[in-house]
Amino acid sequence: MYRTNTCGELRQADAGKTVTLAGWVQRTRRMGGMTFVDLRDRYGLTQLVFNNDTDAELCERANRLGREYVIRATGIVAERSNKNAHLPTGEIEITVTALDVLNVAATPPFTIEDDTDGGDDLRMKYRYLDLRRNAVRSNLELRHRMTIEVRRYLDGKGFMEVETPVLISSTPEGARDFVVPSRMNPGQFYALPQSPQTFKQLLMVSGFDRYFQIVKCFRDEDLRADRQPEFTQIDCEMSFVEQDDVLTLFEGMAKHLFKSIRDIEITEPFPRITWAEAMKLYGSDKPDIRFGMQFVELDSILKGHGFALFDEAAYIGGICAAGAAGYTRKQMDELTEYVKRPQIGAKGLVYARVEADGTVKSTVDKFYSQDILQKMKAAFDASPGDLILILSGPDVMKTRKQLSELRLEMGTRLGLRDKNRFACLWVIDFPLLEWSEEDGRFYAMHHPFTSPKPEHIPLLETSPGSVSANAYDMVINGVEVGGGSIRIHDSALQSRMFQLLGFTAEEAQSRFGFLTNAFTYGAPPHGGIAYGLDRWVSLFAGLDSIRDCIAFPKNTSGRDVMIDAPSEIDKSQLEELRLIIKKSE
Ligand code: ASP
Repeated sequence: MYRTNTCGELRQADAGKTVTLAGWVQRTRRMGGMTFVDLRDRYGLTQLVFNNDTDAELCERANRLGREYVIRATGIVAERSNKNAHLPTGEIEITVTALDVLNVAATPPFTIEDDTDGGDDLRMKYRYLDLRRNAVRSNLELRHRMTIEVRRYLDGKGFMEVETPVLISSTPEGARDFVVPSRMNPGQFYALPQSPQTFKQLLMVSGFDRYFQIVKCFRDEDLRADRQPEFTQIDCEMSFVEQDDVLTLFEGMAKHLFKSIRDIEITEPFPRITWAEAMKLYGSDKPDIRFGMQFVELDSILKGHGFALFDEAAYIGGICAAGAAGYTRKQMDELTEYVKRPQIGAKGLVYARVEADGTVKSTVDKFYSQDILQKMKAAFDASPGDLILILSGPDVMKTRKQLSELRLEMGTRLGLRDKNRFACLWVIDFPLLEWSEEDGRFYAMHHPFTSPKPEHIPLLETSPGSVSANAYDMVINGVEVGGGSIRIHDSALQSRMFQLLGFTAEEAQSRFGFLTNAFTYGAPPHGGIAYGLDRWVSLFAGLDSIRDCIAFPKNTSGRDVMIDAPSEIDKSQLEELRLIIKKSE
């Protein structure tokens, strides 16, 4: 028998029992005539003790144990004289009577402890060792519990988990595809799914009514902290539903996860704001509403007073940072530098402080009377001690985005973005289409299967850019955790949509004919949503990067440095696939 107990379960009440434990040697310490060994497994850490006076030979063997040796130890549970309150097993130790080395271990490249000395790259290369550490493993445990609870909730609501294929053809989620050459069909390629979108819609045509799948999706995009080339979705679809039905059911799922995973009871309904409102008040379609600091538009107050920058702007907007009037010159310079960074791109920052006596002192005092500045103060409902920050620009959306970045930065600086507080909302009524100046054409804002609001269908002919969609996102703490829509289920409307997106009838038929044909055989009204599991887990775990909740993630160049992928393939494989690699110029 390898073990009677795990390394995480013995307590004072077990004192006197003879037990056998198995695990990894985290470290050994010699003190006086005693040797202490911290034995680790997935469940915890237990102290083993060897006494040189009672069994010198056994103690000597313990002294020779190296880090990460795999051992089995039998002994008696004893109460510890110097208890360790930080350790669940800290009240006891095992007085060892028998020791077996089950396997030796090479010296690990970094210490496998909570505070490790290993840098990021090294830990990625030896990810299987990093996964022995509590911090990393506990994220995966959280992930496991979340998927169990998702399955429990959806099963309870009649959803059926169905697997859809991975070798398919291109799915239009707006990213580049990963492709796989087909040996049996030379010159032809599969694409990996960017999502199972079309399959879940086909399952609705099949009458499955409620589908879900916890599924890998693949998008060949530039990577960021919240993006991996392969990521996991909680993908869902329902028949005979309207937007409200979907939002209610999935708000229920979110509340179930908050309660079961974080023990947070949310009784209030999630606020719902339209995309247009979100852009106006926060400059973002995923606003962080843990804090207010909503935008105030200042065009009517600040235009026409001879300040050219504002007079020529298409948008002037500001935020009010409560209690920040005391910011030093240096802090203000930092903020100005922040908004001028190329990633943000503002030209400059105008600011105004509300003094203790209520007067407003701004960087543009020479253009504005105190009277006007007081009007501005009133528009923000600002109080003494507040700092007003103003951006302007020639493009409304761009300036709003810049102000949104500044708002988030101020939220962080003022400590308003506590990771243990959660603020959820729905953003609804997204535009159906997005115009690309560069390409001179419309793109689907969500995807081409999203239904316009029924009352907006006539606008498709006259003013497609102003059509709103039955599309929605769930946002938590400024992170888009999920998004979906009510779908088009009418083949004629779907064809019109493809046409608006610039597909000829032939192209639409060849790419999506399977779906539009299916719709001619009785498609029920349907809609759905997909959540980014990695993002949701990292929110619940308080992580900065989704990498930390993925067992074997890729680095920012899309590489798995542990198994060294992607890599070149054999010449014979290339020949079999009839592929020739073009040498880079
Ligand atoms: N397939 C969509 C996505 O991946 C989600 C949905 O519309 O259900 O974003």
